[in-house]
Amino acid sequence: MNSKIWLSSPHMGGNELKYIHEAFDANWVAPLGPNVDGFEKDLEHFLNADVKVAALSAGTAALHLALIECGVIHGDEVICQSITFSASANPIAYQGAVPVFIDSEEDTWNMCPIALQQAIEDRISKGKKPKAIIIVHLYGMPAKMDEIISIAMKYEIPIIEDAAEALGSKYKSKACGTLGRFGILSFNGNKIITTSGGGALVCHTQEDKDKAVFLSTQARDNAPHYQHSHIGYNYRMSNITAGIGRGQMEVLNDRVNARRAMNNFYVELFKDVDGVNILSEPSTDFYSNHWLTAITIDDAKTGKTREDLRLKFLEENIESRPLWKPMHMQPVFADAPYYGGTVAEKLFEKGLCLPSGSNLTDPEKERIAQSIKKFFSK
Ligand SMILES: *Cc1c(COP(=O)(O)O)cnc(C)c1O
Repeated sequence: MNSKIWLSSPHMGGNELKYIHEAFDANWVAPLGPNVDGFEKDLEHFLNADVKVAALSAGTAALHLALIECGVIHGDEVICQSITFSASANPIAYQGAVPVFIDSEEDTWNMCPIALQQAIEDRISKGKKPKAIIIVHLYGMPAKMDEIISIAMKYEIPIIEDAAEALGSKYKSKACGTLGRFGILSFNGNKIITTSGGGALVCHTQEDKDKAVFLSTQARDNAPHYQHSHIGYNYRMSNITAGIGRGQMEVLNDRVNARRAMNNFYVELFKDVDGVNILSEPSTDFYSNHWLTAITIDDAKTGKTREDLRLKFLEENIESRPLWKPMHMQPVFADAPYYGGTVAEKLFEKGLCLPSGSNLTDPEKERIAQSIKKFFSK
Protein backbone atom coordinates (compact mmCIF):
# COMPACT_ATOMS: atom_id res chain seq x y z
CA MET A 1 0.00 0.00 0.00
CA ASN A 2 1.29 3.46 -0.89
CA SER A 3 1.76 5.84 2.02
CA LYS A 4 -1.12 8.19 2.69
CA ILE A 5 -1.32 11.53 0.91
CA TRP A 6 -3.08 14.02 3.17
CA LEU A 7 -5.39 16.85 2.23
CA SER A 8 -3.33 19.35 4.24
CA SER A 9 -0.83 18.33 6.92
CA PRO A 10 1.36 20.33 9.32
CA HIS A 11 4.63 21.56 7.79
CA MET A 12 7.26 22.76 10.22
CA GLY A 13 9.84 25.34 9.18
CA GLY A 14 12.80 24.42 11.36
CA ASN A 15 13.08 27.18 13.95
CA GLU A 16 9.98 26.30 15.97
CA LEU A 17 12.02 24.29 18.51
CA LYS A 18 14.47 27.17 18.95
CA TYR A 19 11.66 29.39 20.25
CA ILE A 20 10.30 26.61 22.43
CA HIS A 21 13.77 26.02 23.90
CA GLU A 22 14.05 29.72 24.68
CA ALA A 23 10.77 29.51 26.52
CA PHE A 24 11.96 26.47 28.51
CA ASP A 25 15.32 28.07 29.30
CA ALA A 26 13.62 31.17 30.69
CA ASN A 27 10.92 29.01 32.36
CA TRP A 28 8.25 30.90 30.38
CA VAL A 29 6.08 27.79 30.28
CA ALA A 30 3.17 29.64 31.85
CA PRO A 31 0.71 31.37 29.55
CA LEU A 32 1.86 34.73 28.15
CA GLY A 33 5.51 35.64 27.74
CA PRO A 34 7.91 36.82 25.05
CA ASN A 35 6.84 34.34 22.36
CA VAL A 36 3.23 35.54 22.61
CA ASP A 37 4.35 39.16 22.23
CA GLY A 38 6.76 38.21 19.44
CA PHE A 39 4.16 36.18 17.53
CA GLU A 40 1.66 39.04 17.75
CA LYS A 41 4.26 41.50 16.44
CA ASP A 42 5.17 39.10 13.60
CA LEU A 43 1.50 38.86 12.59
CA GLU A 44 0.99 42.63 12.76
CA HIS A 45 4.04 43.11 10.57
CA PHE A 46 2.92 40.46 8.09
CA LEU A 47 -0.61 41.88 7.80
CA ASN A 48 1.02 45.20 6.89
CA ALA A 49 -1.85 47.33 8.18
CA ASP A 50 -2.45 49.46 11.24
CA VAL A 51 -3.75 46.54 13.33
CA LYS A 52 -3.33 45.08 16.81
CA VAL A 53 -3.36 41.30 17.08
CA ALA A 54 -4.37 39.24 20.14
CA ALA A 55 -3.06 35.65 20.06
CA LEU A 56 -5.68 33.21 21.35
CA SER A 57 -6.24 29.51 21.91
CA ALA A 58 -8.25 29.03 18.70
CA GLY A 59 -9.85 30.77 15.76
CA THR A 60 -13.20 29.78 17.24
CA ALA A 61 -12.32 31.64 20.46
CA ALA A 62 -11.39 34.70 18.37
CA LEU A 63 -14.80 34.63 16.66
CA HIS A 64 -16.53 34.33 20.02
CA LEU A 65 -14.68 37.37 21.40
CA ALA A 66 -15.36 39.35 18.20
CA LEU A 67 -19.08 38.74 18.66
CA ILE A 68 -18.90 39.81 22.31
CA GLU A 69 -17.03 42.98 21.34
CA CYS A 70 -19.67 43.71 18.70
CA GLY A 71 -22.22 43.59 21.52
CA VAL A 72 -24.00 40.42 20.37
CA ILE A 73 -26.24 39.11 23.15
CA HIS A 74 -29.02 36.59 23.70
CA GLY A 75 -31.80 36.88 21.12
CA ASP A 76 -29.80 38.95 18.63
CA GLU A 77 -29.40 37.91 15.01
CA VAL A 78 -26.03 37.56 13.26
CA ILE A 79 -25.57 37.08 9.52
CA CYS A 80 -23.19 34.32 8.45
CA GLN A 81 -22.03 32.81 5.17
CA SER A 82 -23.74 29.43 4.82
CA ILE A 83 -20.98 27.47 3.10
CA THR A 84 -18.25 27.34 5.72
CA PHE A 85 -16.86 25.26 8.55
CA SER A 86 -19.25 25.05 11.52
CA ALA A 87 -16.81 27.03 13.69
CA SER A 88 -17.85 30.19 11.79
CA ALA A 89 -21.39 29.83 13.10
CA ASN A 90 -21.09 28.05 16.46
CA PRO A 91 -19.97 31.13 18.44
CA ILE A 92 -23.25 32.84 17.43
CA ALA A 93 -25.01 30.10 19.35
CA TYR A 94 -22.58 30.44 22.30
CA GLN A 95 -23.96 33.96 22.72
CA GLY A 96 -27.56 32.71 22.58
CA ALA A 97 -27.97 34.59 19.30
CA VAL A 98 -29.56 33.32 16.07
CA PRO A 99 -27.59 32.81 12.84
CA VAL A 100 -29.09 34.04 9.57
CA PHE A 101 -27.43 32.15 6.73
CA ILE A 102 -26.62 33.56 3.28
CA ASP A 103 -26.03 31.80 -0.03
CA SER A 104 -22.84 32.09 -2.10
CA GLU A 105 -22.11 33.66 -5.48
CA GLU A 106 -20.49 31.68 -8.30
CA ASP A 107 -17.23 33.59 -8.70
CA THR A 108 -15.57 33.27 -5.28
CA TRP A 109 -18.04 30.80 -3.69
CA ASN A 110 -18.32 33.29 -0.82
CA MET A 111 -21.24 35.35 0.48
CA CYS A 112 -23.55 36.68 -2.25
CA PRO A 113 -23.90 40.47 -1.84
CA ILE A 114 -27.38 40.44 -3.40
CA ALA A 115 -28.68 37.83 -0.98
CA LEU A 116 -26.98 39.70 1.86
CA GLN A 117 -28.83 42.91 1.02
CA GLN A 118 -32.17 41.05 0.75
CA ALA A 119 -31.57 39.38 4.09
CA ILE A 120 -30.74 42.62 5.89
CA GLU A 121 -33.81 44.37 4.50
CA ASP A 122 -36.09 41.47 5.35
CA ARG A 123 -34.73 41.10 8.90
CA ILE A 124 -35.10 44.87 9.45
CA SER A 125 -38.69 44.72 8.17
CA LYS A 126 -39.31 42.00 10.78
CA GLY A 127 -37.93 44.31 13.47
CA LYS A 128 -34.62 42.43 13.81
CA LYS A 129 -31.64 44.36 12.54
CA PRO A 130 -28.65 41.98 12.41
CA LYS A 131 -25.89 42.81 14.89
CA ALA A 132 -22.93 41.61 12.80
CA ILE A 133 -21.98 40.00 9.48
CA ILE A 134 -19.57 37.04 9.48
CA ILE A 135 -17.93 36.82 6.09
CA VAL A 136 -15.64 33.91 5.17
CA HIS A 137 -12.79 33.72 2.64
CA LEU A 138 -13.37 30.10 1.72
CA TYR A 139 -10.27 28.01 0.98
CA GLY A 140 -8.29 31.26 0.96
CA MET A 141 -10.31 32.96 -1.80
CA PRO A 142 -11.18 36.55 -0.82
CA ALA A 143 -14.88 37.39 -0.81
CA LYS A 144 -16.28 40.31 -2.86
CA MET A 145 -15.34 42.77 -0.14
CA ASP A 146 -16.14 46.09 -1.88
CA GLU A 147 -19.74 45.07 -2.43
CA ILE A 148 -20.08 43.57 1.04
CA ILE A 149 -18.44 46.51 2.83
CA SER A 150 -20.66 49.02 1.03
CA ILE A 151 -23.80 47.12 2.11
CA ALA A 152 -22.51 46.80 5.68
CA MET A 153 -21.76 50.53 5.78
CA LYS A 154 -25.16 51.45 4.38
CA TYR A 155 -26.90 49.59 7.21
CA GLU A 156 -24.16 50.30 9.77
CA ILE A 157 -23.54 46.65 10.64
CA PRO A 158 -20.00 45.59 11.65
CA ILE A 159 -18.19 42.95 9.58
CA ILE A 160 -16.31 40.10 11.24
CA GLU A 161 -13.93 38.60 8.70
CA ASP A 162 -13.36 34.88 9.18
CA ALA A 163 -9.90 34.68 7.61
CA ALA A 164 -9.11 31.34 9.28
CA GLU A 165 -8.28 29.88 5.87
CA ALA A 166 -6.95 33.06 4.30
CA LEU A 167 -3.75 34.13 6.05
CA GLY A 168 -1.63 35.47 3.18
CA SER A 169 -4.60 36.20 0.91
CA LYS A 170 -5.24 39.75 -0.26
CA TYR A 171 -8.11 41.77 -1.64
CA LYS A 172 -7.04 44.81 -3.69
CA SER A 173 -3.56 44.42 -2.14
CA LYS A 174 -4.91 44.53 1.43
CA ALA A 175 -4.49 41.53 3.72
CA CYS A 176 -7.57 39.42 4.38
CA GLY A 177 -8.35 39.70 8.08
CA THR A 178 -7.75 43.46 8.15
CA LEU A 179 -10.78 44.55 6.11
CA GLY A 180 -13.58 44.31 8.66
CA ARG A 181 -14.29 45.65 12.13
CA PHE A 182 -12.56 42.48 13.37
CA GLY A 183 -10.70 39.68 11.64
CA ILE A 184 -9.95 36.20 12.90
CA LEU A 185 -7.13 33.81 12.04
CA SER A 186 -6.61 30.11 12.81
CA PHE A 187 -3.42 28.13 13.34
CA ASN A 188 -5.09 24.74 13.63
CA GLY A 189 -3.15 21.70 12.43
CA ASN A 190 -4.42 21.74 8.85
CA LYS A 191 -4.21 25.49 8.17
CA ILE A 192 -1.56 27.24 6.06
CA ILE A 193 0.61 27.64 9.15
CA THR A 194 -0.02 25.92 12.45
CA THR A 195 0.81 26.24 16.13
CA SER A 196 -0.74 22.76 16.66
CA GLY A 197 -3.83 24.68 17.74
CA GLY A 198 -4.40 28.39 18.08
CA GLY A 199 -5.96 31.50 16.65
CA ALA A 200 -5.84 35.27 16.70
CA LEU A 201 -8.17 38.25 16.78
CA VAL A 202 -7.18 41.12 14.48
CA CYS A 203 -8.28 44.48 15.95
CA HIS A 204 -8.03 48.05 14.69
CA THR A 205 -7.54 49.76 18.05
CA GLN A 206 -5.45 49.07 21.12
CA GLU A 207 -8.64 49.36 23.16
CA ASP A 208 -10.29 46.51 21.23
CA LYS A 209 -7.20 44.36 21.66
CA ASP A 210 -6.94 45.15 25.39
CA LYS A 211 -10.56 44.10 25.81
CA ALA A 212 -9.92 40.81 24.00
CA VAL A 213 -6.86 40.09 26.16
CA PHE A 214 -8.84 40.95 29.30
CA LEU A 215 -11.75 38.64 28.38
CA SER A 216 -9.40 35.85 27.25
CA THR A 217 -7.54 35.82 30.58
CA GLN A 218 -10.56 35.32 32.86
CA ALA A 219 -11.59 39.01 33.03
CA ARG A 220 -9.60 39.89 36.13
CA ASP A 221 -10.19 43.42 37.36
CA ASN A 222 -7.21 45.53 38.36
CA ALA A 223 -6.96 44.52 42.05
CA PRO A 224 -4.42 42.61 44.20
CA HIS A 225 -7.02 39.92 44.91
CA TYR A 226 -9.08 38.15 42.26
CA GLN A 227 -11.99 40.42 41.49
CA HIS A 228 -14.39 40.11 38.56
CA SER A 229 -17.08 42.35 37.14
CA HIS A 230 -17.38 40.45 33.82
CA ILE A 231 -17.65 36.83 32.77
CA GLY A 232 -14.22 35.80 31.51
CA TYR A 233 -12.79 33.06 29.29
CA ASN A 234 -9.61 31.03 29.21
CA TYR A 235 -8.82 31.79 25.58
CA ARG A 236 -5.26 33.18 25.60
CA MET A 237 -2.49 31.51 23.60
CA SER A 238 0.33 29.95 25.61
CA ASN A 239 3.96 30.98 25.33
CA ILE A 240 4.97 27.49 24.14
CA THR A 241 2.37 27.41 21.38
CA ALA A 242 3.35 30.93 20.30
CA GLY A 243 6.95 29.69 19.93
CA ILE A 244 5.76 27.33 17.19
CA GLY A 245 3.96 30.29 15.64
CA ARG A 246 7.11 32.40 15.55
CA GLY A 247 8.97 29.63 13.72
CA GLN A 248 6.09 29.27 11.28
CA MET A 249 5.98 33.00 10.56
CA GLU A 250 9.53 32.74 9.20
CA VAL A 251 8.24 30.45 6.42
CA LEU A 252 4.74 31.80 5.84
CA ASN A 253 5.59 33.42 2.49
CA ASP A 254 7.14 30.12 1.33
CA ARG A 255 4.00 28.28 2.40
CA VAL A 256 1.78 30.65 0.42
CA ASN A 257 3.99 30.21 -2.64
CA ALA A 258 3.92 26.43 -2.28
CA ARG A 259 0.11 26.32 -1.96
CA ARG A 260 -0.22 28.57 -5.00
CA ALA A 261 2.14 26.28 -6.91
CA MET A 262 -0.06 23.30 -5.95
CA ASN A 263 -3.01 25.20 -7.37
CA ASN A 264 -1.10 25.73 -10.63
CA PHE A 265 -0.28 22.05 -10.72
CA TYR A 266 -4.02 21.28 -10.74
CA VAL A 267 -4.82 24.02 -13.25
CA GLU A 268 -2.36 22.34 -15.65
CA LEU A 269 -3.74 18.87 -14.90
CA PHE A 270 -7.35 19.83 -15.56
CA LYS A 271 -6.63 22.13 -18.50
CA ASP A 272 -7.98 19.66 -21.02
CA VAL A 273 -10.70 18.09 -18.89
CA ASP A 274 -14.07 19.46 -19.97
CA GLY A 275 -16.50 19.68 -17.05
CA VAL A 276 -14.05 20.33 -14.21
CA ASN A 277 -14.03 23.86 -12.80
CA ILE A 278 -11.31 25.03 -10.40
CA LEU A 279 -12.02 27.76 -7.86
CA SER A 280 -9.94 30.63 -9.31
CA GLU A 281 -9.30 34.31 -8.71
CA PRO A 282 -12.01 36.24 -10.65
CA SER A 283 -9.68 39.18 -11.34
CA THR A 284 -6.37 40.70 -10.23
CA ASP A 285 -8.25 42.31 -7.30
CA PHE A 286 -8.24 38.85 -5.72
CA TYR A 287 -5.10 37.13 -4.44
CA SER A 288 -5.74 33.74 -2.86
CA ASN A 289 -3.27 31.82 -0.67
CA HIS A 290 -4.98 28.76 -2.25
CA TRP A 291 -4.98 27.05 1.13
CA LEU A 292 -6.96 24.25 -0.50
CA THR A 293 -7.50 23.76 -4.20
CA ALA A 294 -11.16 22.99 -4.78
CA ILE A 295 -12.96 21.85 -7.92
CA THR A 296 -16.48 21.16 -9.04
CA ILE A 297 -17.23 18.24 -11.32
CA ASP A 298 -20.06 18.54 -13.81
CA ASP A 299 -21.41 14.99 -13.98
CA ALA A 300 -23.38 15.70 -17.17
CA LYS A 301 -20.14 16.56 -18.99
CA THR A 302 -17.72 14.12 -17.38
CA GLY A 303 -20.01 11.20 -16.63
CA LYS A 304 -18.55 11.14 -13.10
CA THR A 305 -19.42 12.66 -9.77
CA ARG A 306 -17.23 14.17 -7.10
CA GLU A 307 -18.04 11.12 -4.96
CA ASP A 308 -16.65 8.84 -7.69
CA LEU A 309 -13.38 10.77 -7.61
CA ARG A 310 -13.26 10.85 -3.80
CA LEU A 311 -13.68 7.07 -3.64
CA LYS A 312 -11.13 6.54 -6.43
CA PHE A 313 -8.63 8.62 -4.44
CA LEU A 314 -9.49 6.71 -1.27
CA GLU A 315 -8.66 3.42 -2.99
CA GLU A 316 -5.22 4.84 -3.72
CA ASN A 317 -4.76 6.15 -0.19
CA ILE A 318 -5.16 9.79 -1.23
CA GLU A 319 -7.27 12.01 1.00
CA SER A 320 -9.78 14.42 -0.53
CA ARG A 321 -12.92 15.95 0.96
CA PRO A 322 -16.29 17.27 -0.19
CA LEU A 323 -16.70 21.05 0.19
CA TRP A 324 -18.08 22.27 3.51
CA LYS A 325 -21.71 21.25 3.86
CA PRO A 326 -23.67 24.53 4.00
CA MET A 327 -24.81 25.49 7.49
CA HIS A 328 -28.47 25.93 6.45
CA MET A 329 -28.44 22.21 5.50
CA GLN A 330 -27.05 21.13 8.89
CA PRO A 331 -29.45 19.45 11.32
CA VAL A 332 -28.22 21.62 14.19
CA PHE A 333 -29.17 24.84 12.34
CA ALA A 334 -32.40 23.52 10.76
CA ASP A 335 -34.48 26.35 12.27
CA ALA A 336 -32.21 29.22 11.23
CA PRO A 337 -33.40 31.66 8.54
CA TYR A 338 -31.73 31.36 5.12
CA TYR A 339 -31.54 33.78 2.19
CA GLY A 340 -30.54 33.07 -1.38
CA GLY A 341 -30.86 30.29 -3.93
CA THR A 342 -29.10 27.00 -4.44
CA VAL A 343 -25.53 28.04 -5.28
CA ALA A 344 -24.08 26.74 -1.99
CA GLU A 345 -26.15 23.54 -2.21
CA LYS A 346 -24.88 22.83 -5.73
CA LEU A 347 -21.30 23.55 -4.72
CA PHE A 348 -21.67 21.02 -1.93
CA GLU A 349 -23.12 18.45 -4.31
CA LYS A 350 -20.43 18.85 -6.95
CA GLY A 351 -17.38 20.13 -5.10
CA LEU A 352 -14.24 18.42 -3.86
CA CYS A 353 -11.10 19.68 -2.06
CA LEU A 354 -7.89 18.16 -3.37
CA PRO A 355 -4.61 17.43 -1.55
CA SER A 356 -3.01 20.87 -1.27
CA GLY A 357 -0.32 20.66 1.41
CA SER A 358 2.83 22.74 1.06
CA ASN A 359 4.89 19.64 1.87
CA LEU A 360 3.72 17.31 -0.90
CA THR A 361 6.69 15.70 -2.65
CA ASP A 362 7.19 15.28 -6.38
CA PRO A 363 6.50 11.52 -6.24
CA GLU A 364 3.29 12.25 -4.30
CA LYS A 365 2.23 14.81 -6.90
CA GLU A 366 2.97 12.25 -9.60
CA ARG A 367 0.70 9.73 -7.86
CA ILE A 368 -2.08 12.33 -7.72
CA ALA A 369 -1.60 13.23 -11.38
CA GLN A 370 -1.67 9.59 -12.51
CA SER A 371 -4.74 8.91 -10.45
CA ILE A 372 -6.61 11.89 -11.92
CA LYS A 373 -5.57 11.05 -15.48
CA LYS A 374 -6.70 7.45 -15.11
CA PHE A 375 -9.99 8.54 -13.58
CA PHE A 376 -10.98 10.98 -16.31
CA SER A 377 -9.71 8.92 -19.23
CA LYS A 378 -12.21 6.12 -18.68
C1 LIG B 1 -10.47 26.36 10.97
C2 LIG B 1 -11.60 27.32 10.83
C3 LIG B 1 -12.15 27.98 11.94
C4 LIG B 1 -11.82 27.64 13.36
O1 LIG B 1 -10.53 27.81 13.74
P1 LIG B 1 -9.97 26.93 14.97
O2 LIG B 1 -8.62 27.54 15.20
O3 LIG B 1 -9.91 25.52 14.52
O4 LIG B 1 -10.88 27.15 16.12
C5 LIG B 1 -13.14 28.93 11.72
N1 LIG B 1 -13.58 29.20 10.49
C6 LIG B 1 -13.10 28.58 9.40
C7 LIG B 1 -13.63 28.96 8.07
C8 LIG B 1 -12.11 27.61 9.54
O5 LIG B 1 -11.67 26.96 8.46
